[in-house]
Amino acid sequence: MMVKRQTILAVDDTVANLDILVNLLQDFDVIEAIGGEEALDIIAQEEVDLILLDIMMPGMDGYTVCRKIKENDQNQDIPIIFITSRSDENAIEKAYDTGGVDYVTKPFKPKELLARVKIQLEHQEMIEKLEFMASHDPMTGIYNRRKFFELANRKFKEQPENLYAAMLDIDKFKKINDSYGHPTGDRVIKAVTGAISDILDEGSVFGRLGGEEFAILCHHSDQNVVVNSLEFIRKKIESLEVLSESGELIKCTISEGVAKVDETTRNLDELLQRADEMLYKAKGSGRNKTIFRI
Ligand SMILES: [Mg+2]
Repeated sequence: MMVKRQTILAVDDTVANLDILVNLLQDFDVIEAIGGEEALDIIAQEEVDLILLDIMMPGMDGYTVCRKIKENDQNQDIPIIFITSRSDENAIEKAYDTGGVDYVTKPFKPKELLARVKIQLEHQEMIEKLEFMASHDPMTGIYNRRKFFELANRKFKEQPENLYAAMLDIDKFKKINDSYGHPTGDRVIKAVTGAISDILDEGSVFGRLGGEEFAILCHHSDQNVVVNSLEFIRKKIESLEVLSESGELIKCTISEGVAKVDETTRNLDELLQRADEMLYKAKGSGRNKTIFRI
């Protein structure tokens, strides 16, 4: 398996210093920036896993660069290690206060710097893994309930216009579990969520609210497109064949309830509540249906 090389941004006003870092960090992709302005330009365009940042630079000093980088929410998690010839306590304190995770004084010991870089990258990887586990359903890999509500609430606050919620439920799921056993029930859930994930576009929020119940939140200016894609999903599930544990091909269907934000919708819970009422209707009128709230 190809392991993705991590990218380190090295920022210094002296070319010779950058050369030393590039030489030392041969296991990584190193992007060099002469000075703060260039560093900020690069950060705006490239995905960077860690930054080595000189403090004393003409124009913009390292503290300012660090502060500016951290102003952007998307950069919050990028570890920044300061490298500087200043070793007074105030300089070190300021480096941490500004948002640095570590501090190395020049002239640095190459092996020590390398070890510090590696440990920060490992920490970052661990944090990302934990964040993934805390926000995704382990079985299906889609958002868990907590993350779904977090993202959905954000969508509702930021842009309630043309926002739709759909509540989805696998029909007679208990019967599938009772007839074929829970491992097969799990296969059905995975097949259903996999098919839906393939169809949804990236802007949609799709989460498992519990058991066999799911929700989608999406924006669209054309209501027909929303209804059509939900119908497409329903038909796609209807055509799925899932292999049971004992080798039988089994079928399943889903019911969907859809609601759109209107001037009376005060919050996300109300929107989901309305979609849920439509889901209830779909269930009560024969299942394998998409019912849209008018
Ligand atoms: Mg310098």
